[in-house]
Amino acid sequence: MTAKRNLLGLAWPALTDFFSELGQPEYRAKQLMEWIYQHGVSDFNRMSNFPKELRQKLEETAVVGAGEVIARQVASDGTIKLAIAFAEQRIVECVILRYHHGITLCLSSQVGCKMGCAFCASGMHGFVDNLTTAEIIEQIWWANQELAVQKQRVGHLVYMGMGEPLDNYLQVVNSIRFANNSSTFNIGMRNITLSTSGLVPRIRQLAEEDLSLTLSVSLHAPVDYLRDQIMPINKRYPLAELISAVREYVRSTRRRVTFEYILLAGFNDQPIHADKLASLLAGILANVNVIPYNEVPGLPWQAPTDKQVRLFMRALEQRGITATLRRELGPEIDAACGQLRRRLQGEE
Ligand code: SF4
Repeated sequence: MTAKRNLLGLAWPALTDFFSELGQPEYRAKQLMEWIYQHGVSDFNRMSNFPKELRQKLEETAVVGAGEVIARQVASDGTIKLAIAFAEQRIVECVILRYHHGITLCLSSQVGCKMGCAFCASGMHGFVDNLTTAEIIEQIWWANQELAVQKQRVGHLVYMGMGEPLDNYLQVVNSIRFANNSSTFNIGMRNITLSTSGLVPRIRQLAEEDLSLTLSVSLHAPVDYLRDQIMPINKRYPLAELISAVREYVRSTRRRVTFEYILLAGFNDQPIHADKLASLLAGILANVNVIPYNEVPGLPWQAPTDKQVRLFMRALEQRGITATLRRELGPEIDAACGQLRRRLQGEE
């Protein structure tokens, strides 16, 4: 028996080919997309504008979605973390975050991660595989299923979950274009943020894509000798190279870049570090997101005190750096990316 075709995340040409092989006109592909992406329907029998024979044929030959939600954690502030399994060793997480500007989904782009950042749960057990475009898209679909009860939908995407998005470049860029399409989730390009730990050649490539998304660079240390200790990628692309690529990115896209800076107690959280950070970013159209660390069981790093956070923010402000203290959402669930997956796989 041949495997059923997964129609979720299938691009328009492949979808129209699929219907044409069934002897169906092109408009059926459009109708199917409406059912899947606008109405969140995966059961072919509920697709009431399809003739009965077509519904039967679809039942026999196709499915909508390849994964299932195997765990779900809800925090008191409404943050929801979902673990989705596409296969036994293919579990990813996505997190629904409620901000004042709307509902944001934090997506995974890989199973595990190669980057090995010292403070991160996702990288602790290495890399398993890249996600396909369809698997990235399916996370949005499941999040919308979750939100449908409250008649809400995902309006913003941040590629900041498990994995280094630019290390899975093609699938990630395809998924961004797909999610932005008005026939699918219609998520505005300006509502999409892609985060990178600093893959310099890919940042340059991204600048050529003509996507008006927001690039977010995970910096986490203002000088090489500190960044080398927590982010192995820095040995390949040290800060000078990274910052030069970011400057070029801003010049060619005219888009503001965001820098993420996790405050690790006693490591990078002193006013002197804020000062060095300000010097590093001088003249760049940028915003710094300062994130007090969320402690991860099994890792030695600690969260900074409130006082240290205040001093750090003040030092940045005094140097004229636009900085935002990132509100910690859902702190009582396994909030760091990769934590829920580790728990499910018994690695914690
Ligand atoms: S912080 Fe991001 S890039 Fe670094 S190991 Fe974790 S998932 Fe990978």
